[in-house]
Amino acid sequence: MGTKILRAVARDIRFPTSRSLDGSDAMNPDPDYSAAYVVLETDHPDGLAGHGLTFTVGRGNELCVAAVELLAPHIVGRTLEDLTHDLRGFWRSLVADTQLRWLGPEKGVVHLATAALVNAVWDLYAKLEKKPLWKLLADMSPEQLVACIDFRYIEDALTPQEATHLLRRQLPGRAKREQEMLRDGFPAYTTSAGWIGYSDEKITKLAHEAMAEGFTQLKLKVGGDPASDLRRARILREAIGPDRQLMVDANQVWGVDEAIEAMRALAEVNPWWIEEPTSPDDVLGHLRIREVQAAAAGWGDRLLPGGQLSPGRRQRGARRAADGREVWRAGVPACRRGGPLRVRPAPGDLRLHRGQRVAGEPDLRVRRPPARALRPPREG
Ligand SMILES: [Mg+2]
Repeated sequence: MGTKILRAVARDIRFPTSRSLDGSDAMNPDPDYSAAYVVLETDHPDGLAGHGLTFTVGRGNELCVAAVELLAPHIVGRTLEDLTHDLRGFWRSLVADTQLRWLGPEKGVVHLATAALVNAVWDLYAKLEKKPLWKLLADMSPEQLVACIDFRYIEDALTPQEATHLLRRQLPGRAKREQEMLRDGFPAYTTSAGWIGYSDEKITKLAHEAMAEGFTQLKLKVGGDPASDLRRARILREAIGPDRQLMVDANQVWGVDEAIEAMRALAEVNPWWIEEPTSPDDVLGHLRIREVQAAAAGWGDRLLPGGQLSPGRRQRGARRAADGREVWRAGVPACRRGGPLRVRPAPGDLRLHRGQRVAGEPDLRVRRPPARALRPPREG
């Protein structure tokens, strides 16, 4: 028996956020935050359904919806128990569709659509287990978790045995960390004040509101005119004071040398990290940026397909620069963001899970790797 998935309904949902420039950044100055939103309808007597979404910034959202509809036959008609019995196999059935895979592979529209369906299946799984997603993941044994992950392209960087060992190592403190997290909450950062289209006054006002809500880490979108970037960064730094963390995100707009130069100019505001300084595909470029500037450099919304890490993975630091996300690329759900819509994001669950299970500390998501000595901006 089990819970049978009867239908996958994909909806094209868009919000006109470009009107207020909410969510704007250097590469995407006029985003309309949107989602290909999937509902997996089932024959469960309580009417349980699995909900999942993938994020886009407007035009082209219909392509994701179409790709969801093309991939849905891999799920519709199966039972949830069948899918969760072999989550690695379920993942592979989607990313290794014998014809659709050509359109990726494991990147672009088909991969965004895959994310919506994977998220929806995990949502249904958590509902049937009567647990929030983070708790479902936290309660899995190391072996169960590792069995979710497709190691096909990452095994030379991390083997299933190593991953199991990493998770087992943190088992002794798990219950205590869970209690602490439930008692104290879980750290997060916000970009609410930092969208690139916001006025200087709005940055200050929203930064104060974010601090009043308890945020201690705020992110600023950069990658516009350098003088404007520095002015806005100074405004945010002044608003939040010297002790809170200020992160910056260029959304891929710079070349590698340009990124290094830009980050030197921003060094005076002591950025905690730079997110997406250059092309998300340029692993070695990220490593070079990280070598020569003070702030940590990492990927952002674009997770690297496993094979894409190959050029850099054997180089020292490549795995670290990838921010550990590689471990989670396969088979574990991730929504792309909350953003200005304040959608409750799956990354929250994922961060909780990572803090609980891998890092053994609650603030992995907002803890940056050790920075090099701060270098002042160049003269002139
Ligand atoms: Mg980003």
